[in-house]
Amino acid sequence: MPRELSLIKPGSHCPGCKHKIAIWHNIPVFGWLILRGRCANCKEPIPVSYPIVEILTATLGFLAAFLAEPNPWQSADLVKSISLFWFLTTLVPIFAIDFKHLLLPDTVTIGGILLGFALSFFPGSIGWLSSLIGIAACGGSLFLFGFVCSKILKKEGMGFGDVKLLAGFGAIMGAELAGIALIIGASLALIITIPHRLLTKKNMQLPLPFGPFLGVAAPISYLFGDAMLQSFLSLLFQFNLSGL
Ligand SMILES: [Zn+2]
Repeated sequence: MPRELSLIKPGSHCPGCKHKIAIWHNIPVFGWLILRGRCANCKEPIPVSYPIVEILTATLGFLAAFLAEPNPWQSADLVKSISLFWFLTTLVPIFAIDFKHLLLPDTVTIGGILLGFALSFFPGSIGWLSSLIGIAACGGSLFLFGFVCSKILKKEGMGFGDVKLLAGFGAIMGAELAGIALIIGASLALIITIPHRLLTKKNMQLPLPFGPFLGVAAPISYLFGDAMLQSFLSLLFQFNLSGL
């Protein structure tokens, strides 16, 4: 994706000798085992990261199906299960690409917007209006924030990839939960980045890959955001009462 190669054309091939990979050699994990980690044609080693990512993706898929209780195969819960599968599996490219290249591929960000809006027409989803509001409110507010930051700091503050990623969260889970994801993501970024940069004596001005933090925050907010908001509000309410 960061090299802007198509995922479809040309089909899977060895990057070394360009040899087309046979279907039975392209079966996740098993293909790598059958070939013993080497290209069938030129015997160039195939990195172990391939089967690792394949196992990881399958594990995340199972996790998504079983976390979307009570019955992931019924329509309403299927929407939940697909959404969760998306949040969990996009973490793989987000982590692999954003930390290294400081960019988020459109397949992940615009893909999220399209998936969320498509899902919003099925029972059990947030509905198309909430999805549209989610896209506009989340994308718009983060874009505005980035724009203001770049004017104040006089340099690029927020990557447009982050804006599209959050807009996709809004499309899938609505503005409220996506907003909670933004708060969780920003908190994680601060808690982890500042001590890490102090310890490694890295320049605080270096650009920060925000995508991975947002990515981790999404499934947390999707699963627990409502409960978090409820307990926060009741805490606020109690505090208010005792203050009176
Ligand atoms: Zn080869």
